[in-house]
Amino acid sequence: MRVRTPLVTAVAAGSLAIAALGAAGTTARADTDGGTRTVEYFPDSHGEGRHARVPTSVPERISRLKQAPATAPDATKVTPLQRTGPSDGRLDLVIIGDGYTAGQQADFEEDAQAKLDAIFAIEPYKSYKGLFNFWLVDAVSNDSGVSGDPTQDVVKDTAVSSYFFCSDTERLLCVDEKKVDTYAQQAPDSDIVFVVSNSTKYGGAGYSGLTSTAGHTGIATMSSDNDRSYLIGAHELGHSIGLLADEYQYAGYGTYPGPEPTEANTTMRTADDMLNTRTKWYSWLGQNDPSGGTVGAYEGGGYYEYGIYRPTENSIMRSLDTDQFNLPGREAMIAGFYRDAALLTAGTSTARTLHTSSTLRVDLAPLPTGLSDVKVRWYVDGVEVRRAAGQQALKASALGVHKGTHTVTAKAVDRTAALRDPAARRAATDSVSWTVTR
Ligand SMILES: [Zn+2]
Repeated sequence: MRVRTPLVTAVAAGSLAIAALGAAGTTARADTDGGTRTVEYFPDSHGEGRHARVPTSVPERISRLKQAPATAPDATKVTPLQRTGPSDGRLDLVIIGDGYTAGQQADFEEDAQAKLDAIFAIEPYKSYKGLFNFWLVDAVSNDSGVSGDPTQDVVKDTAVSSYFFCSDTERLLCVDEKKVDTYAQQAPDSDIVFVVSNSTKYGGAGYSGLTSTAGHTGIATMSSDNDRSYLIGAHELGHSIGLLADEYQYAGYGTYPGPEPTEANTTMRTADDMLNTRTKWYSWLGQNDPSGGTVGAYEGGGYYEYGIYRPTENSIMRSLDTDQFNLPGREAMIAGFYRDAALLTAGTSTARTLHTSSTLRVDLAPLPTGLSDVKVRWYVDGVEVRRAAGQQALKASALGVHKGTHTVTAKAVDRTAALRDPAARRAATDSVSWTVTR
């Protein structure tokens, strides 16, 4: 992730989502409180989400098994499954296996690849896969399988102690966060963590708004051999990357009390009000949406039934019977990708002053051609050198730099039609600058 990314953004979003749950008697803090935290889960593979307070530590019947891990975390094998660029210009997704023994690591790698393939077949992950690095962490467990599978009394000694029946909810798959952090730290960088637990049982959980020692802001857990559990990961990244709200509601929650939500996909405004004030998803209203139907203002969302609207009847942020983000959701996701990753990274260090005989090089993230009209443009002291457009490496002297000290800038913009909001387009604009003397 980029250093300039304010970590607090994700934390605030998590707190906000949970603050909305206050009416159900939960706390307004995203962080631990009295040894519990709020996580999200899906009671069935086609249903809407729910939240639950879960203990931050695993139950004693599981933790007392704590033997020495089969392989110490710092001796764990880490494989760069996909590495498209430097960590400070990429979203680093760390995938940790749980409930795989030393002899089952090939199974883990296959299972992790299957989850990534399924998630990155969904737009906009599909088009922006090149902005991610994938790190596979081969955590070795003493036992095969995880606790609570198939029944609540089953206890397994595994690397990050994942277990079903968390808070007595069968489909809720919790982990020992501290152990997850210990393994996540083995990767060069960690923005988001997936824990793939060796099980055929449907289940998972989303931990968002984290401030972990490993640097990541969210953990999504999912069972390995259930063909719908990947949707939990795809949904959770909607929170942690897109800063999106849940679009589902709880019966009996009543009317949303305000204030206007900060998330891009819920609002107190009607469609007319959005159009008149040019706010939220006004520019998408009336468009055919990939989730079905048209973009409008559908009442219910952010856990409340009335007085709050979502963009479409259904979407992956409402239920897992669809794998589609709606158009405002896609836009927020792409803006989120660019908040943490860069289209353009410096191939030549920007740390020191260069001479005009130096070669200046930039690298473009490997996005699909035709997705967007990405062209590198070059500037000297803010004035474009048009003949250099499209080049990714050139000598500063070729830009006609005069005597003295100058700033050379390379800039690229993702012009995808999936972005309509000017702020999102600005997020999709990247530049690097060097100081050059002659
Ligand atoms: Zn959610």
